[in-house]
Amino acid sequence: MTELIQLSLQQMRRGLLAGDFSSQELTRAYLERVERLEPHLNAFITLAPELALRQARAADERLAEIRRQGGEAPPLLGVPIAIKDVLAVRDLPCTAGSRILETFVPPYNATAVERVLEAGAVVLGKTNTDEFAMGSSTENSAYEVTRNPWNLERVPGGSSGGSAAAVAARMAPLALGTDTGGSVRQPAAFCGVTGLKPTYGRVSRFGLFAYASSLDTVGALARSAEEVAGIYNALHGHDRRDATSLKHPREEVVLKNEDLRGLRVGIVAEHFQHDLQPEVARALQVAVQQLETLGAKVLDVQLPHTRYAVPVYYIIAPAEASANLARYDGVRYGPRQPAETLPAVYARTRGKLFGREVKRRIMLGTFALSAGYQEAYYGKAQKVRRLIQQDFVRAFEKVDLIAAPVTPTTAFPIGAHRGDPLSMYLEDIFTLPANLAGLPAIAFPVGVDDQNLPVGMQLIAPALHEDRLLQAAHSYQQATSWHQRTPDPELL
Ligand code: GLN
Repeated sequence: MTELIQLSLQQMRRGLLAGDFSSQELTRAYLERVERLEPHLNAFITLAPELALRQARAADERLAEIRRQGGEAPPLLGVPIAIKDVLAVRDLPCTAGSRILETFVPPYNATAVERVLEAGAVVLGKTNTDEFAMGSSTENSAYEVTRNPWNLERVPGGSSGGSAAAVAARMAPLALGTDTGGSVRQPAAFCGVTGLKPTYGRVSRFGLFAYASSLDTVGALARSAEEVAGIYNALHGHDRRDATSLKHPREEVVLKNEDLRGLRVGIVAEHFQHDLQPEVARALQVAVQQLETLGAKVLDVQLPHTRYAVPVYYIIAPAEASANLARYDGVRYGPRQPAETLPAVYARTRGKLFGREVKRRIMLGTFALSAGYQEAYYGKAQKVRRLIQQDFVRAFEKVDLIAAPVTPTTAFPIGAHRGDPLSMYLEDIFTLPANLAGLPAIAFPVGVDDQNLPVGMQLIAPALHEDRLLQAAHSYQQATSWHQRTPDPELL
C-alpha cells in the first residue's frame, strides 16, 4: 500500500473516481502508516480510525453511485485529512493542546471542518499543537512534543507542528492548521511541505478555539500548492456564524500550467541582511533566481516597520488571548479542580491545568490591558500595526507579490529555546507581518541546509489574492521538485 500514500490529491481523485481503489483502502493505507510512525513522531493527539472508516465507507457508496449514475463528485470525496486539535470536530475530543480541555468533546463542527466534510473528506484524527496555538515548536503542547520527520531530534515547528509533520511523513495527505503569527507557514517550512495562510476573514473562525481573534486564521497544508488549492477551495467563503467573516464572494482557484511572465516580485533587502542561517539565505537566493528564470521580474521594496513586528505582535496577541482564555474557568468546559469557594475553583483549575507559556501570556496580556497601561501598550501596538499594514499597501503599488524568508533558520533542536521564551518569539520575525496586516501568505520548500533539513520560502500577496500566491507557488513547483521529497521512511 506504499504507493497509495504517495499519491497527490489529484491522483487520488482520479483513482477513486475510476474505481482503481476505494476510499476505505486509501484510508486504511494511511491508518497503517500512522500506526507505524506515530510512536516515533507523536503527530496526533487523537486518532479517529472508526470515524475515518465510517466516512470512507460512505464516500465509497457515493463514488459507486456516481460511477453508476454520473454526476459531479465533491472535490475531496474519499480523501483523508488530519485536523489541528484547535478546530472542533463533532464527537471527537478537542484539547487545544491543553490539559484544561482534556475531557472536552465538542458537540459541533467548526465551519472549516464542516466545509471539508461537505467536500467529502475523511477525518483521520486531531493533530498536535502548542497549547492554544501559542508557540513555534509544539514544545508547549501538554501532550508531548511532535518530532520532525526529517530529524527526530528537531522540532517540527509550531503551532501546527502535528499537521505539518503528518503531511511530511505521509501520515496524512492533507491537513488543516491555524495561523495567528505563522503557525501554518513556519511548520510547513520546517517540515518541507506547502502551507497557506489565507486573508484574515476569508475562512470562517467559527469553531476554532480562539487565541488572538484579530489575527487568527485557518489554513491548509499539503505537499504541493495544487493540493493546498484543493483544500482552500473547499474552505473559503462567507459564514454568518463568524462576525469577521468576509462577505467577498467565493472565488474558485483554478491553477494553470504557466510560467511567471509578467509577475512582479518584491524582495526586501533587509530581510537578507538579517541574521539568516547561511544555507537559508543561499536557498532563498537560488529560489528567487528560479522565479526570475520563470519570467518574474524581481524588484526591491521597503517594509521599514516590519522590524517592530515582534514587539507589536507580542503585545496584541497576549492581550487578546488573556480575554479569550478567561472562559476556561473549570465551570464550563473540561476538568475542574475542586475547592471551597468559586474563586478558588477558578484559581486552582487555571493554575494547575494551564501550562507555563499560556500563563505567561495571560499575565503579559492582562498587564498590557490594565488600567493606566492600555494606551501605552495595546493602543500603541495597534498604531504601529497600522504602519506595518501601510508599508504593505505602498509595496503592493509596485509589485504583485513579496518573496521573503519564512524563518531565520531551519528546524531547531528540541529544547534549543528552553527557558528563553524571548529567543523563541524572535523566530517569528518573518511570519508575523502578514498576520498583523491580515494578508494571505504561502510557504513552500525551496532547498535544504547542510543537514538535509528543508528550507522554506514565503510569498505574501495583497488581501484576497490567494489565487496569485497559489499560482506562483504552483508554477515554481512545476519547474522544481523540492516539494516531492519525502523523509527516508527507513530512518523512522
Ligand atoms: N509563534 C507564534 C506564537 O507563539 C504564532 C503562533 C500561531 O500562529 N498560532 O504566538
